[in-house]
Amino acid sequence: MCGHDRDTRAAVASSRSVSSADAARRDLGALAAYRERPTDAALLFDIDGTLAPITTRPGDAAVPPETRELLAALAERYALVGCVSGRQAAEARRIAGVEGIVYIGNHGLELLEPGASEPTFDPAVASLADAAMRFVSGLDAERLADAALAVEDKGPIQALHWRGAADQERAEKAARAIAADAPAEVRPHWGRKVLELRPAVDVDKGTAVRRLLASSGVRRALYVGDDRTDLDVFRILTELVEAGDLEGALRVGVRSGEGPQEIIDEADVVVDGTEGVRALLRELVG
Ligand SMILES: [Mg+2]
Repeated sequence: MCGHDRDTRAAVASSRSVSSADAARRDLGALAAYRERPTDAALLFDIDGTLAPITTRPGDAAVPPETRELLAALAERYALVGCVSGRQAAEARRIAGVEGIVYIGNHGLELLEPGASEPTFDPAVASLADAAMRFVSGLDAERLADAALAVEDKGPIQALHWRGAADQERAEKAARAIAADAPAEVRPHWGRKVLELRPAVDVDKGTAVRRLLASSGVRRALYVGDDRTDLDVFRILTELVEAGDLEGALRVGVRSGEGPQEIIDEADVVVDGTEGVRALLRELVG
């Protein structure tokens, strides 16, 4: 059932050693199945580094106007269009600036439906939704301030940042001590100069996409991402195709200076930066 996309993958992989014009033509071929039957297809996108250029201050991130317009046009045509982000779902919607699509936020914990004002939580997280908040609110404020750890309240996820700390080593050491103190229902995740305390449930971008697709009835799904957490979606799409739950999937990796090599290795199609993603959106609009 997945023959078409497997063939496409082989073609695209081999095309990389040929000319870029050939590669571009073959990439277009991979999109044809989506363009021809949009009512059977889901289009899902990571935000930071995929739709929105990376900014020095995360609060400054925004999806450029043309990309917004393309997303809105796709939402009218395709069965399902959505964004999948590590940010809170409402924040993801603010940055993307498109109302009529679905937002999965907080690494899969939250789902914000079009038009909804509040996200819903994955059922697995319900009883643990405030576990991280309880733990962080019980921390000694002086201890946090001494280590220059800044708390970001992301609802079910609480993040401790030390990008701005004068003594980075001290701040990180304090974060490690806090992580070690976390109760069993809170799981530490380490990012770049950030400790995220998340509910201890096996929910990620991939499991959230699986839930979303299962309720959508689509036969094909395309996902675009640039970072390690997007690999969870790539792998889930592979599983769904192998299980026959999807006829096809297209995993699109975004090449950037900072991204992991796996995003290139595991992708069916690779595009260059947020501009390459925008070109792909134009092709999907047709
Ligand atoms: Mg990203």
